[in-house]
Amino acid sequence: MIPYGRQQIDKKDIEEVVKVLNSDFITQGPVVEKFEKKIAQVVKSSYALTVNSATSALHLACLALGLKQGDHLWTSPNSFLASANCGLYCGASIDFVDIDPGTFNMCSGALEEKLIVAKKQNLLPKIVIPVHFGGEPSEMKRIWELSKDYGFRIIEDASHAIGSSYRKKMTGSCEYSDITVFSFHPVKIITTGEGGVAVTNNLQDYSFMKECRSHGVVRDSVKFVNKSEGSWYYEQQELGMNYRMADILAALGMSQLLKLDTFITKRESIASNYDLALKEAKISTQTRNQLNRSSMHLYVLQVPKSDRAKLYNILRKKGIGVNVHYIPIHLQPFYRKRGFKAGDFPKAEKYYSQALSIPIFPSLRTEDQHFIIENLLEYFR
Ligand SMILES: *Cc1c(COP(=O)(O)O)cnc(C)c1O
Repeated sequence: MIPYGRQQIDKKDIEEVVKVLNSDFITQGPVVEKFEKKIAQVVKSSYALTVNSATSALHLACLALGLKQGDHLWTSPNSFLASANCGLYCGASIDFVDIDPGTFNMCSGALEEKLIVAKKQNLLPKIVIPVHFGGEPSEMKRIWELSKDYGFRIIEDASHAIGSSYRKKMTGSCEYSDITVFSFHPVKIITTGEGGVAVTNNLQDYSFMKECRSHGVVRDSVKFVNKSEGSWYYEQQELGMNYRMADILAALGMSQLLKLDTFITKRESIASNYDLALKEAKISTQTRNQLNRSSMHLYVLQVPKSDRAKLYNILRKKGIGVNVHYIPIHLQPFYRKRGFKAGDFPKAEKYYSQALSIPIFPSLRTEDQHFIIENLLEYFR
């Protein structure tokens, strides 16, 4: 089966991991710090904090921005569950903003309409989380302008989108957000097996997230509440978790990061092969803004609703591991129990009923791309 996405690990990646295995530190140590410096440099943020998953990074980001019970968090229904669950971890309530049917990202017009209503009802969100679906950056400038008018904070869920840029600015530079989160899960752009990172330009938010990454413990004497009792002394000042990344994984990430641009270039070349073939066949795909660079995490088609399941099964039988991203979060039983229902976000629901992701990853062979294209065209012929 050709998967829809997969990691690319080479000899150098393996050597770097083995080096750490033979060193004194295997848990969080010097390689994590090196990896964080390098991430910040690549995505052009001041600070980077690695953690054990993007889910953890989203949780820490919500905590750093002060999300708590009684607050509201809004995100896109067309995302992975973690984009919404992070708000519930903090006791906040969740709502969604419908998508743009072209980019499949949160629609800034729909956001504005919802903000106008929420203001009248005194239900404005504390945090909005746009998700850069498939690696295509959301309309950050407009969302940021709205944040100034309505007083909310912004976390970019860029789990799909390391290496992408928005109007020539690297995603992660946080030009139009407070904190940006990336995932290093194996299907994403670069991997550490499991892992994620939160990047920001705000020292206070960074320090808070750093404390909470490891039990809320402070070891820096200048930050102590009480007088130090000796050099063994530490203080717990927040309720933190254990969200640390290990050096073993950071070594893999460091090595992967050096190939970020190569990986995306390969994805772009696959995407342009698909673009060409599917345009001729009049099959519609995600709109990509020419002012941006998408990291091309996903290649998603919109096919007639009545064909989707059939096409999914036919392609799977041929060994093409197509997939569907995403079942709208609000339609999950867990969220329906919290009052959401079919019809709440019609654009995301319609999009989902027609969505099909075809394989895209750096090592996808040319003959496999042709095989995928041929089978798609044959179905629609
Ligand atoms: C993968 C993903 C996450 C979660 O990433 P993990 O590193 O697996 O926790 C969050 N949001 C989106 C949009 C994702 O695709």
